[in-house]
Amino acid sequence: MKNVIDAIITLIKRNCFTLTTSNIRNYPSSQTCCTCGYKNSLTKNLSVRRWICPVCGTVHDRDQNAAINILRKALEMKNSA
Ligand SMILES: [Zn+2]
Repeated sequence: MKNVIDAIITLIKRNCFTLTTSNIRNYPSSQTCCTCGYKNSLTKNLSVRRWICPVCGTVHDRDQNAAINILRKALEMKNSA
């Protein structure tokens, strides 16, 4: 999954997005379903690597879901700049 995260970071850098750790410090990227937006507090536990969204049924890989959410956040920031 590191490859997916690296690819997203490269995409962010290539597009000059101003996403820093302070921008996402309080953003629950691992807890938020990237499909429907449901926030699953059970995934605060770092040992939970895969989970199924109880609302939309999407099966999530923790890191891939977080990477998609971070990319979405970067795009939102870019579009609101
Ligand atoms: Zn969902």
